[in-house]
Amino acid sequence: MSRRTPLIAGNWKMNKTVAEAEEFIQALLPRVATADGVDVAICPPFTALTPMIDSTRGSRVQVFAQTMHQAASGPYTGEVSALMLSELDVHGVILGHSERRELFAETDKALALKVPAALDASLMPLLCVGETDSERENGDTERKLRHQIQEALAKVPSERLAAVAIAYEPIWAIGTGKVAEPEQAQEAAAFIRALIGDRSPEQAQLVRILYGGSVKPENAGEILALPDVDGALVGGASLDPGGLAAIIAAAS
Ligand code: PEP
Repeated sequence: MSRRTPLIAGNWKMNKTVAEAEEFIQALLPRVATADGVDVAICPPFTALTPMIDSTRGSRVQVFAQTMHQAASGPYTGEVSALMLSELDVHGVILGHSERRELFAETDKALALKVPAALDASLMPLLCVGETDSERENGDTERKLRHQIQEALAKVPSERLAAVAIAYEPIWAIGTGKVAEPEQAQEAAAFIRALIGDRSPEQAQLVRILYGGSVKPENAGEILALPDVDGALVGGASLDPGGLAAIIAAAS
């Protein structure tokens, strides 16, 4: 039996006003109150972080931000720092989501600074990595994953690697309804674990590796049963409290 507690994280992206977030959380909390052996996180937009932290206090639901800047402060209009998030009691932060990389030019170089900055502020980084359709077709999946993992974790001390959670998110499966085959998800998760193992065999056994890409209540059980998959990063299906609760139930 794995010692790793699965993590189910719902990435709301740019969805839900504060009123909608409140309605969601009031519907979710009773549904997850008895879920056992699973960590649960919601990742609301910045505007709903404080309301969700207040509404989830004392519950099993943690609140993550969707991004942050690597600097402590400075002339970065529109950005927030790790300290600004931890001051709000935010528990963690998604880093390197493919939408941030593609639409907002987030680079591996910036991520190499963001991951340690999050850890230093006591935030759990949830680092996203994954290949495009054409990279997979060209047999470049492992090269891409190796590059992203090595770059983003380069400045994290080996003994702290398991403080980072890693989400394997094949870009072709995000928001497309296309789910990776179980063998593809397992193979990628095991490869990522082996990369961590190159730096620390102990941390490799502890680090949580999630799968993300069109996870839904109907396919969650099969994905979460994979030996190297320790949870899911869920986009679309996390917008509905019933859907997220069903995925959490599949993990618990
Ligand atoms: C995501 O955005 O991280 C994601 C996995 O989205 P979806 O579940 O909608 O594919």
